[in-house]
Amino acid sequence: MADADAHPLIDRIEAELARERDALVELSHRIHAHPEIRFEEERASAWLADALERRGFAVERGVGGLPTAFRARLDGRPGGPTVALLCEYDALPGLGHACGHNLIATMGAGAAIALAPVMGELDGSLLVIGTPAEEGGGGKIILLEAGVFDGVDAALMIHPYHLDQAGMATLASVKLEVVYTGTPAHAAMAPFEGRNALDAVRLAFAGIDAMRQQVRDDVRMHAIVSDGGAAPNIIPERAAMTCVARSADARHLHESLVPRLQGVFQGAALMTGTTVEVTDASHPYDEIRRNPALEAAFERHARRRGRTITPFDPSSGAGSTDMGNLSQVLPGLHGMLAIDDAALPHTAAFATAARSERGDRTLVDGASVLAGVALELFSDAGVLREVRGDFAAAERTA
Ligand SMILES: [Zn+2]
Ligand SMILES: [Zn+2]
Repeated sequence: MADADAHPLIDRIEAELARERDALVELSHRIHAHPEIRFEEERASAWLADALERRGFAVERGVGGLPTAFRARLDGRPGGPTVALLCEYDALPGLGHACGHNLIATMGAGAAIALAPVMGELDGSLLVIGTPAEEGGGGKIILLEAGVFDGVDAALMIHPYHLDQAGMATLASVKLEVVYTGTPAHAAMAPFEGRNALDAVRLAFAGIDAMRQQVRDDVRMHAIVSDGGAAPNIIPERAAMTCVARSADARHLHESLVPRLQGVFQGAALMTGTTVEVTDASHPYDEIRRNPALEAAFERHARRRGRTITPFDPSSGAGSTDMGNLSQVLPGLHGMLAIDDAALPHTAAFATAARSERGDRTLVDGASVLAGVALELFSDAGVLREVRGDFAAAERTA
């Protein structure tokens, strides 16, 4: 579809969106004002599910064994694709909605609400899937494994950002909890009887730092001390760190980087006479498999709304998302729309932008863009074919 304005239903979708604008903005502000961290998004998921139910969607709550997940469904005419709009709504510990997931949620729900009156004239089914715990919990991975995405032909979402971009550079990531166990002792009276678990953590940090020069440019390794011992006059029996490692591709991460880190963790244990246990603190996240046809549809509709697209730069500003795992299994769109010119996610300034006039305008633009992309998938078999072809082509080259 060359002209995003051309579809006869666009005007009705826009009219419905205009009618619902105030309600969507109010919902976005309400979620922003009540931040809930991963797996605890009780209010946000209920508010979204209720809003969709009121507009005729059949809603299942607690899908995939996650109490704060939901799946809302509105069928069009039989046949045609199943298109899922995704809502993230978790906040960050201590920072509130500094990743702007209140906007992701209301863009997805808003697109669905705008499409609802015209679904009877389209072939296919519209789903809205509420996906908890993007910030480190891997909610989409849990839902994927539970079959919540079965039958979905494409999954669409938009993340707020400081640029308008059709895709996001992503890194595959792992989060490791590394726990050392030593032997406690009086730190003055009998230190020679102790084996110091905190020393092992310190040496593990030093080992990671020694790796830094010998890793690829796309690698990121960052950690915190999650347990530094009980008191300075006790040789720490237990100490722990949480370590995140990332790379542009999951294979490099899992086959090269993680084994080297395991060596560092083991080496620190050996040096200190402690033992170490390493466990996954989250599901590993994969990099996003981009879909040029979906990205082109995103750009058409972003331009229709008067937005200016910045060319995608795969080397800049990469983060990690559980959308990566989903995009490896079915065609996915992770578009980006600006809510500020400078602020980046996970900062206080970004949290402010997520509840600003510009953020509200981006909410409406994002809902319109998502609705437009979904409309193309429902009504243009050529676009759907291209999306499937791009997905398969990316698989072949991976
Ligand atoms: Zn985030
Ligand atoms: Zn985010």
